[in-house]
This record gives sequence, C-alpha cells and structure tokens, in this order.
Amino acid sequence: MRPYPLIFEPSLKKRIWGGSKINEIFGYPGANQNIGEAWVVSDHPEGKSIIINGEFSGESLGVLMEKYPEWFAAAKLNKFPLLVKVLDANDNLSVQVHPDDEYAMRNEKGESGKTECWYVIESKPGAEIIFGHTAENKSEFIQLAKENKWDRLLARVPARAEDFFFIPSGKVHAIGKGILLLEVQQNSDITYRIYDYDRMGLDGVKRALHFDKAIDIIDFQPANNKPEPHTFEEKGAAKTTLVSCSYFTVEKWLVKGRHDLKLFDVFLLIFIVSGEGVLIYDDGSVLLTKGVSMMIPAKMGGCRVVGNIEAIVSHI
Ligand code: ZN
Repeated sequence: MRPYPLIFEPSLKKRIWGGSKINEIFGYPGANQNIGEAWVVSDHPEGKSIIINGEFSGESLGVLMEKYPEWFAAAKLNKFPLLVKVLDANDNLSVQVHPDDEYAMRNEKGESGKTECWYVIESKPGAEIIFGHTAENKSEFIQLAKENKWDRLLARVPARAEDFFFIPSGKVHAIGKGILLLEVQQNSDITYRIYDYDRMGLDGVKRALHFDKAIDIIDFQPANNKPEPHTFEEKGAAKTTLVSCSYFTVEKWLVKGRHDLKLFDVFLLIFIVSGEGVLIYDDGSVLLTKGVSMMIPAKMGGCRVVGNIEAIVSHI
C-alpha cells in the first residue's frame, strides 16, 4: 500500500464556554451551539480522528498507525504523540495548569504530560489570555487564591490574530473570551483546574477544581523559554518556525504559487487556516480549503502545493 495524504473529520466538543464560530468559519457539519473545541487531529480515546478519504476512509488514525507504523516515523511510535484542536472561547476558559510527563506518569496512570501552544486565528478587540502568575512562591500563590484575589494573582496579556504563545507544563494559563485559536499539544487530556469563575457547568453543577495537584506542579521560577520565531524563504513559500521544543515543532506556512514539499522521515500535520489551493501527489490530488486538516505520511514521495494558503504545520 502506497502512503497517501489523509484527511480527517473533526470531532466537535460542547463546552460551557463554547460558541458558534468554529462551524461558521470552517464550515464543519453539526450542531452550532456551545461548540468549544474541534479536535482536528487526534488519536486520544476522548475523540479519535476518522479518515475521510481514500483506501482507509472510515478508519481511525490509530488503526492506521498499527498497520503502517512507517507512515508515521522511522521507529514505531507507541502512541500518536500530538493532538491538534481549534478552540472557540465565547467565554473565559477555566484557569489551569498541566503536569509534565514525569508527574503525569506517577499520578495519572501513566498518561503523558501536556505542553501546548496556541496560534491565534481571530480575536475580538481587547481580548486577553492569562499567561503566568505574579506570585513569588507557593505560599503567596495559595494566600492570594484563598483570598480570591485573582486579578492580582493572574498575569494577563493581549491576544491578537497571528499571535503565538508557548505554554510548557507547569505554566498557569487560560484562554480569554473572544479568542479563536489553533492549539498543538502533547496527546494528553490532563488538566488541573485552578479557578473557574465560580460558574456552573452545562449540567448545572460547578466543575471540579484540582487546586492541590495544581499547586504541586505550578512553576514558581519560570525559565525564559519564550520561543524566538524565525522566518525562512523556500521556493513558493515563506515559513516561520513558531516553536521547536522536545515535543513538537510548529511552523506557519504562507504558500504563494507552487511549492514543492521536502518530506522528512516523520509525518507532517497541516491545518489550513485560510486561502485555497490543491495538494498534488504521485497518485492524485487533494483540495485545500480553510478548516481542512490532513496528515502527510513520512516517505510519501514527491508532492507539491499549488495555490495561495496560510497553514499551520506541525510535526515531532
Ligand atoms: Zn491548557
């Protein structure tokens, strides 16, 4: 079987803070209310990506990985390493933090930790995210939280279209209302909620907080690990490396005209943010329009993109 580009069907998630933008902008089928997340590439048990084109139409990403591990990487991966989501924050998301691999392994039944990053697609004027905190140590954090002094404790920064944020495990964060973004993260769903604005869940019950676990893992001496994006030109494309860390590399591609892809011995995940084009490979072609989420297998052979597109591309 020759590898071919795989297109995925998004898995839509209702959230109390969700809105209607994901379907409005990307035209995904399905309900239009309170949709907070579209998992566009996933092999997580909570929402596995289903392939919708070619020979493997109807199969999940995981099934394919079992059959053809060489489509993914030179050495067999024991699980699909990434999760890519679109998030529509019609309201503020809970303030949260995620563990690293080591903590998750010990305390969450061998799950992965979660380092994530965000590329802002759209935001309303004045929209902000919570990005870190102001406490100098654990006891100050606990004190301010107990006194409900969240405005003093949480650090806010503006978020505008095309901004990029890297959120390593241990960093307190929250997406603020009015922001639509693409998230690339480790394949994990472990979240320790610190503060949820005292609101009710969709079922009328307050969502659980995990303050004690959060306190265990919050970084009180954050390293300066802000990525320095750099842009490089290739024929037909300007590419910016937004981040390259031990879990993933995320790039922004602006393709104009014809761009021949250089493929590596790992898969490439491509999410089309805007524009239109076509991906042409030895055995066929795939239409690229906004919201299309695809994987180009390792060792696929020659392929090229023709058109005018903005895409976020991630790989390990
Ligand atoms: Zn998070």
